[in-house]
Amino acid sequence: MPGTDVAIVGGGIVGLATAYQLLDRFPGTQVVVLEKEREVALHQTGHNSGVLHTGIYYKPGSLRAINCRLGKLAMQEFCDREGIPYNLCGKVIVAVDASEQPQLQRIYERGQANGVRCELIDAARLKELEPHARGVQAIHVPEAGIIDYRQVCDRLAQRVQERGGTVLTQARVTSLFRRNVRMIIESTAGEVEARYVVTCAGLHSDRLTRLSGQTPIAQIVPFRGEYYELKPSVHHLCRGLIYPVPDPNFPFLGVHFTRMIHGGVECGPNAVLAFAREGYYRLSFNLFDFLESITYSGFLRLACKHWRAGLGEMWRSFSKRAFVTALQRLVPEIKSEDLVPAPAGVRAQALLPDGELVDDFLILENDLVVNVCNAPSPAATASLNIGRLVVDKLAQRLG
Ligand SMILES: Cc1cc2nc3c(=O)[nH]c(=O)nc-3n(C[C@H](O)[C@H](O)[C@H](O)COP(=O)(O)OP(=O)(O)OC[C@H]3O[C@@H](n4cnc5c(N)ncnc54)[C@H](O)[C@@H]3O)c2cc1C
Repeated sequence: MPGTDVAIVGGGIVGLATAYQLLDRFPGTQVVVLEKEREVALHQTGHNSGVLHTGIYYKPGSLRAINCRLGKLAMQEFCDREGIPYNLCGKVIVAVDASEQPQLQRIYERGQANGVRCELIDAARLKELEPHARGVQAIHVPEAGIIDYRQVCDRLAQRVQERGGTVLTQARVTSLFRRNVRMIIESTAGEVEARYVVTCAGLHSDRLTRLSGQTPIAQIVPFRGEYYELKPSVHHLCRGLIYPVPDPNFPFLGVHFTRMIHGGVECGPNAVLAFAREGYYRLSFNLFDFLESITYSGFLRLACKHWRAGLGEMWRSFSKRAFVTALQRLVPEIKSEDLVPAPAGVRAQALLPDGELVDDFLILENDLVVNVCNAPSPAATASLNIGRLVVDKLAQRLG
């Protein structure tokens, strides 16, 4: 049974960034990343919008606000060093009518409190920045950007391996237990003994937390986010990132337009209950995952409270016309024939038993295990700083 200092479960961006930061701070440490898929970054990290978020939305002082700001800088520095392209194309958050202006103002004030460079602009300035967007007022966030997080992960994995770490794919962790003062990790690629374990399992984070012997305070409920892409003939309708004013009751940002780093413009995502933790298609179904979600008190309470918004999201999932109507609020010229379906993503939404959404990052630890229980958006942007945070937690033990 090979022994290692630290075993990291999950080869998404959070697990890989943690391995990278660990080897950066403690060169020579033995690190193994165990990933159940054939490649790294095949789940949330590889199916996201590819936005470098600025941290404008998040509660000042929250882990999301702090880690997003610091993580974005760290991500840009990493990409500058590594020659990975990103583009600070800027973003506008658009109030389409007067009823959205108070919420826009609140977001602006949060941005100021979080140290994000942003400006309230009028309809004329919006027209200059995004000639095809319509609104009465907007926030311009010039330093928001776009990036390819899969490319970032491939480079992180490469650097981890060059520094002596191991990235083991097709290694699904099936059990974690303590033997004396060590952890035993059983996986489909064999057994590993480690001094410490870190789990960064995204859509399975609650299950891994439980496997490690800790009790997660929230259950993961998967929400699929569906996208369309604009046909090349209408790419000119969006120059950068065009977002609506988000509903303050939801953690999701509403369907938006995202220019992509390799070209093209993506529209979406919506948010509908996925019938499997990795349910990327409408027909994806896993009986265990489905029953687990719909019998969970947190989900039932959320569904009762927000049934109207939930039905709206489902309607947008089945009706392209409804999806287009949501997009037309921001860019009236968009037509249904301008859109082609694009691959969906699935979000790991952590829900408390009372139906409250856990919106901040959440880490649970004991003497041998650090569980990253909740790493929602903007965790891709923030990943290098989340990694630093986890390494801080391991530092006293390793040192
Ligand atoms: C639709 C969508 C859009 C988003 N847009 C953005 C954005 O624009 N910008 C941004 O910053 N963030 C965005 N996010 C959020 C961001 O993508 C996630 O917060 C981030 O990718 C989380 O990374 P992770 O490593 O924790 O999870 P994941 O990427 O899901 O990785 C977890 C890994 O753990 C592995 N795993 C799970 N169980 C096991 C096991 N038992 N054994 C071994 N391996 C296991 C999985 O296979 C997976 O590879 C978006 C998310 C979604 C879903």
